[in-house]
Amino acid sequence: MTQTPWSATVLTLFPEMFPGPLGLSLSGKALMSGIWSMKTVNIRDFAADKHNTVDDTPFGGGPGMVMRPDVVDAALASVEERPGPIVYLSPRGKVFNQAMAAELAEGDGVTLLCGRYEGIDQRVLDKREIREVSLGDFVLSGGELAAMALLDACLRLLPGYMGAEASLEEESFSAGLLEYPHFTRPATWDGMDVPAVLLSGHHEKIKAWRQAEAERTTRTRRPDLWSRYCTTKGAGMSAN
Ligand code: SAH
Repeated sequence: MTQTPWSATVLTLFPEMFPGPLGLSLSGKALMSGIWSMKTVNIRDFAADKHNTVDDTPFGGGPGMVMRPDVVDAALASVEERPGPIVYLSPRGKVFNQAMAAELAEGDGVTLLCGRYEGIDQRVLDKREIREVSLGDFVLSGGELAAMALLDACLRLLPGYMGAEASLEEESFSAGLLEYPHFTRPATWDGMDVPAVLLSGHHEKIKAWRQAEAERTTRTRRPDLWSRYCTTKGAGMSAN
């Protein structure tokens, strides 16, 4: 086991946004206890002119501004010693998921590049073979909130982050299914009872009920996940 914290480097025009919400609650505690570390790089510090210009109008015309490749490249060059891949948060990227979070969490860390305006000049992304990752099919005003969401998903998988490690294995997406529903006290609330099986103390029955609920929820809410689950489960069974 290495003692080096999992490290996040964020290149942004708004470094004051970090750690932001990641400085609170479990991620904040994990930051304090050295499970992870973070540093920000202000892209504007690498502007070459006296006006600190980081963007310019798009070639070919059109609205908005584009972040200059020379400025972004200089900012990236300043963090050459970084662990982990460079990820550009971008609506054009591969859609982020739990498997990507797990892969990143298993490594040493990640370097995140946050865009603003219309985005970043393509040439610097190509030159540095930067992975593009999207949070979903919607457009944010900047990569910072996407970077925080990505980081949060990775951080909670780090060893020592959560008290009960086992709870991670049953979570939504880990087994290819959405999670079963949760209930706590009071056992009867507002005229509604908790499912009786959960009060039975019968572990096998509870497990079976939870599995059935996870399958039912996934089948009705996420047919895409459900068909993938059926395929891999089928493949797994034939391999046995
Ligand atoms: N013109 C771009 C949108 C730019 S939005 C387009 O239509 O594709 C400005 C910045 O916000 C992007 O550079 C990116 O860093 C971030 N961003 C916007 N939507 C995002 C998403 N769905 N996932 C991750 N980052 C996003």
